[in-house]
Amino acid sequence: MQITGEMLIGGRAVRGSDKPLLAYNPSTDADIPAPVFGSGTVEDVVQACALAAAAFDAYRGLPLAVRASFLERIADGIAALGDALTERAHAETGLPKARLEGERARTVGQLRLFAQEVRQGLWLGATLDSALPERKPLPRADLRLQKIAVGPVAVFGASNFPLAFSVAGGDTAAALAAGCPVVVKAHGAHLGTSEMVGRVIQQAVKDMGLPEGVFSLIVGAGRTVGEALVAHPAIKAVGFTGSRAGGTALMQIAAQRPEPIPVYAEMSSINPVFLLPEALATRGAAIAQGFVDSLTLGAGQFCTNPGLVIAVDSPALAPFVAAAQTALAGKPAQTMLTAGIHAAYEQGARRLAETPGVQACAQGQPERGPNEACAALFVTDAKTFLAQHALEDEVFGPASTLVRCADEAELLAVAEHFAGQLTATIQMERDDLPAAKRLVTILERKAGRLLVNGFPTGVEVAHAMVHGGPFPATSDSRATSVGTSAIERFLRPVCYQDFPAELLPEALADANPLGLWRRRDGEVVRG
Ligand code: NAP
Repeated sequence: MQITGEMLIGGRAVRGSDKPLLAYNPSTDADIPAPVFGSGTVEDVVQACALAAAAFDAYRGLPLAVRASFLERIADGIAALGDALTERAHAETGLPKARLEGERARTVGQLRLFAQEVRQGLWLGATLDSALPERKPLPRADLRLQKIAVGPVAVFGASNFPLAFSVAGGDTAAALAAGCPVVVKAHGAHLGTSEMVGRVIQQAVKDMGLPEGVFSLIVGAGRTVGEALVAHPAIKAVGFTGSRAGGTALMQIAAQRPEPIPVYAEMSSINPVFLLPEALATRGAAIAQGFVDSLTLGAGQFCTNPGLVIAVDSPALAPFVAAAQTALAGKPAQTMLTAGIHAAYEQGARRLAETPGVQACAQGQPERGPNEACAALFVTDAKTFLAQHALEDEVFGPASTLVRCADEAELLAVAEHFAGQLTATIQMERDDLPAAKRLVTILERKAGRLLVNGFPTGVEVAHAMVHGGPFPATSDSRATSVGTSAIERFLRPVCYQDFPAELLPEALADANPLGLWRRRDGEVVRG
């Protein structure tokens, strides 16, 4: 597939007339000279949004089987791009090819899982309450509920997942599955990869004879395109993964619209890992190896990167520290996604090193090439941590801080202290159960996913996954951005009261022609 540098607005390929952009190779610290990407204007955003609004009713009204086939066609198209896609993504992100092959499989699998979900139709939440004409003192009407798509969705691709959380990633898959047209703002850190995947979706729209506005991809330098997209009245929800500053800026724009809309922003998390005493005593060195592997995976550029380790200070902590020092010393520096992310990492690591009461504890191998991150572990005590909120700020990359606590009470105080997280992990043995129970009561209030004896990187795409959490991990703790429940963000319930059979949606018809599981007069039945 040839990358042309054009945007995809409905069925057309359009050269953006605003500032020209070049893709960048972080491994060589050089621009990729061709093609030049033209960035879009507000007028391009307006056109994409108008097409999305025009496509909405026809798209959401498609038979579920057709919508599911559309998702599968996109999956097939991405798989068929083969090595050309991973090679381009590798050049634009510096991420290893093997990682990108895994990410492509995840992206394809995610689309196929959403296709199954669409066919099964549980997400419709079909609910029927029969009329009670004889009820005294007042009769009850016939009430039927189903969920429908909210409308066109704006998606901001993430820099750290150029496939699985970008143009055809989790947000797009969930929105298309729900019946929402999607307008994607391409991330500047992988423009060519975005175009390749965007062209696959555009082709799938065409092949299936769907309205062209079901999908558009806009390129934009600076804030103009993103701000105009969130502000456009046709857009009814936003999916975003990136920085806290970016996410909160978009939340503000969305809240100030004449019709405010939800922004599902996944922003910053430091994913605390608690090491309980018995676990440390029995397998401290093994935990250290697992922790260092998780910390350095993908140059630490994961929203679930373990940026904080908390333990009660005792002789049992020494083997953990020694093993972490050895393991980290063996980790080579790795290329980060962009020069900006690399600079932010260096600044963040320097800030940690210069914080009074914080010391360097262990280090990875030094940088050898451009934009490489050297992994680092710092150490502090609970009193310092509790006194300085800045120690809670995400340092995006392979840096973490070990917090030594005087006793269990201080460890619980640290847990109580920190803000919302995507994950919280407990390393424990049976004898740690009483302390773990006390900890879980706190952590349930703090994080979207709680793990025992694992590490937080590696987010399964599954029905039971929660990739979310209280602010600032995300903008809405009720939602997940990974797994099939992610579809809920782009749905809203509608109740049909006393509708004649001919006017009812298929999902709510008496005969249940779609064969759905439904809640009927309080009972969950397939009927
Ligand atoms: P970012 O700067 O937040 O950008 C993400 C996307 O949002 C880009 O397309 C960007 O457009 C757009 N955007 C950001 N602020 C905007 C605004 N005020 N108005 C309109 N559009 C806006 O994130 P990034 O470039 O991917 O990474 C930078 C930092 O984000 C990292 O250092 C890290 O701290 C954090 N990050 C966190 C996660 C996570 O999963 N928690 C993932 C990735 C990054 P432009 O590029 O055109 O400005």
